Amino acid sequence: MLIRGRCHCGNIAFALAWEPDPAEIPARACDCTFCTKHGGVWTSNPKGTLEVALKDASLVSRYAFGTRTAEFHVCARCGIVPMVTSRIDGRLYAVVSVNAFEGVDPSLLRRTPSSFEGEEEGARLARRKRNWIADVRYVEA
Ligand SMILES: [Zn+2]
Repeated sequence: MLIRGRCHCGNIAFALAWEPDPAEIPARACDCTFCTKHGGVWTSNPKGTLEVALKDASLVSRYAFGTRTAEFHVCARCGIVPMVTSRIDGRLYAVVSVNAFEGVDPSLLRRTPSSFEGEEEGARLARRKRNWIADVRYVEA
């Protein structure tokens, strides 16, 4: 399955290849202080391949807070947050927002609350290496 998503204005777009086709897509409603404010709900497939296309990279605000090990990609034009990246041991990992999906049957989404508050930094990075998309490529828009 090829899952496409984008911010509202289309400046940040992604295509996530998810093989084999998912019977359901985990959708983690994050309760961190930032995601609470913008309604962040994330998914990832550690075996997936993510292609990201930025029309104008200067209009992507990269927001980090707390441990500053992850960057939220906020579209500076429309305010949507389609993805988060984390560079760990030289490799770029990512999760994408199910709210930014386009044309995906919502009944595929299995929404669950998730909380990573209080997680120690080493455990946090190890979890990302296990669960986040490990093949992230920027392509021409
Ligand atoms: Zn936008």
